[in-house]
Amino acid sequence: MAYCPSRFRTVRRPTVEVAVGSVLIGGQQPIRIQSMTTSDTQDVAATVRQAIALAEVGCEIVRVTAPNVQAAKCLRDIRAQLTAAGFGSVPLVADIHFLPQAAMEAVEHVEKVRVNPGNYADKKRFAVRDYSDADYAREIERLHAAFSPLVIRCRELGRALRIGTNHGSLSDRIMNRYGDTPLGMVESALEFLRIAESHRFKSIILSMKASNPKVMIEAYRLLVERMNQESMHYPLHLGVTEAGDGEDGRIKSSIGIGSLLLDGLGDTIRVSLTEDSVYEIPVARAIADKAMSLWAEPPAAAAPGGAAARSPASVAAEAGDGVDPFHFVRRTTAGLSLGGGLTVGPEQPPRVIVRVSSVAALATALPPLASGRLLETPAEGLLVPVASAAEVEAALAATAGRTDGFLALELAPAIDPSSLAPALAGARPGGVLVRTFRAGDDLAVASWAQLARRTRQILAIDAGAQAVAALAATLQALGDEALLFTLSDVRGEAGGPPRAGAHALGAYRELIGELRRLGSRAPIWIRNTAANAVRGDNTFLSRLIEASFLTGGLLCDGLGDLVSIETEPDPTRATQVAYNVLQGAGARISKTEFVACPSCGRTLFDLQTTTQRIRAQTAHLKGVKLAIMGCIVNGPGEMADADFGYVGGAPGKINLYVGKECVQYNLPQEEADARLIALIKEHGKWRDPAPIPA
Ligand code: SF4
Repeated sequence: MAYCPSRFRTVRRPTVEVAVGSVLIGGQQPIRIQSMTTSDTQDVAATVRQAIALAEVGCEIVRVTAPNVQAAKCLRDIRAQLTAAGFGSVPLVADIHFLPQAAMEAVEHVEKVRVNPGNYADKKRFAVRDYSDADYAREIERLHAAFSPLVIRCRELGRALRIGTNHGSLSDRIMNRYGDTPLGMVESALEFLRIAESHRFKSIILSMKASNPKVMIEAYRLLVERMNQESMHYPLHLGVTEAGDGEDGRIKSSIGIGSLLLDGLGDTIRVSLTEDSVYEIPVARAIADKAMSLWAEPPAAAAPGGAAARSPASVAAEAGDGVDPFHFVRRTTAGLSLGGGLTVGPEQPPRVIVRVSSVAALATALPPLASGRLLETPAEGLLVPVASAAEVEAALAATAGRTDGFLALELAPAIDPSSLAPALAGARPGGVLVRTFRAGDDLAVASWAQLARRTRQILAIDAGAQAVAALAATLQALGDEALLFTLSDVRGEAGGPPRAGAHALGAYRELIGELRRLGSRAPIWIRNTAANAVRGDNTFLSRLIEASFLTGGLLCDGLGDLVSIETEPDPTRATQVAYNVLQGAGARISKTEFVACPSCGRTLFDLQTTTQRIRAQTAHLKGVKLAIMGCIVNGPGEMADADFGYVGGAPGKINLYVGKECVQYNLPQEEADARLIALIKEHGKWRDPAPIPA
């Protein structure tokens, strides 16, 4: 079941090296950054301009769509002009869907060809039928005949191939046998991989993209596990497809790509945003740099496929966080009642806590007392650090009389529990006392737990796996009643030099594994602090990526019950980021979900302005999933499980979808927004936006 050398620290997966022109991918090479042009490929000048603009901001590989043979022919001039402009070392990749003829033309001109096994030489009919084993074998033979010429030509010319599976565009054959699942995605790629290997062709890179990070993460893990079984060690291209734009697009990409990179998987990445492609590069760069800063040597020097690479020994030594990495299951926790009528635990969405920097800052952070509210933002808990009994009293006094949300007090180590008993006697039940504990703190844990029980507060134990293991007897005696666990400083845990490749995502997994061994079902509070960052440069983008790595990575494994983004100094911003990460991980839906393709040479309308316009009208529809896709060739397949789709049908014309069914064809674009809203109303999913307060 092993898909990576370690779930607790980053140990890079050994792969073979694949040459894409002069750029090497995999093996000991750095993570390569790539993107795609969005111009009409037959507009050679515009495509060359875009490719140069991408290369100038650090894009190392440029993909260009080749929707037909005409466009594929243009790749010759695009290659020549790019080289003449001094960018001969930047490889081009032809993006092929459906047409082997276009692939056979493109391979003559570019360094790599990407095929989609869901539609290469296959028409998508969404047909439901049973494939007998004989039918299936015939289909594979047909594929072999259709795909082999491209493989053979790639081998002759020294080109590379990407077998790029997308969740939303699996073939009818795969859909009928495996369903719309990560397993179906993997089988789809393996069919093509086996054909390529039958021709002794090895210059292959694989991808398993989906717009849902959970699906994407599971699919890549499963692919690696299956490749390990078959002694295949090809590099991986990582990406979350149709991630959208702005903060949400960056979060979704960082969750999916980051979670895999921290597990040591991934050799080249593309961040797909519905924005100009050049804006993808700094995001991809920041993600890659963080992951590469963690790369540790494999457990033993080994060539890909060698004994050490396949040995489960290192994994076995670290096994035991109890997560099934191939199937999402939310960890079952004990229920806890917090203040303000909130609960955490089974069936509850992860709760959002916001941190205020000091007791003194509470005065400005709190809404007017007359409102009765504890919080100005839609966060559900307020965390404040306290250094003395007097500060605890001041914090409780400042928040007295407010009925929503709960107060969490971050206790300085010097505070003695006996000094707080009088102040906490009148505290609202369901507040949280959070304190750091180390190995050997058994007496302190017992004293704080006793105080928490007496004053009907919850004790949050801030400790890593090693401390929890050392405190096992004391913790088991306490049971799960009124306990939370958290880890605010991953570096404080080890008490020595950090292990190579260690990161907070792994430290939380270790902590949760230790709790499983203790039989504890206590909820977990994910704290995004500066001390938990992989690598800190203090920009908003960096903090957003860190929050996505840690919180998104854990949530996609079903772990985590409360979340605080403590790296954002502004409580309102911290709250927004927390809800956006929860939404990106599919853990808590607080607004409309947008799936928007990044656009390419097939796009039939201005995706960026259209997405922004539709978002402005529909962003309040919590729980509704809207897809905005540039073309009908791939759009309907790739919009996966969207409730409604807005898809380019022809120049200036829009097709509207309900699920995968096209219900309105060729609407003039000027009418399409209103017709989309009417459709949402017809299906009972519309509600009017809340009035803006005077
Ligand atoms: S759905 Fe968007 S990105 Fe995909 S092929 Fe169509 S226009 Fe290009």
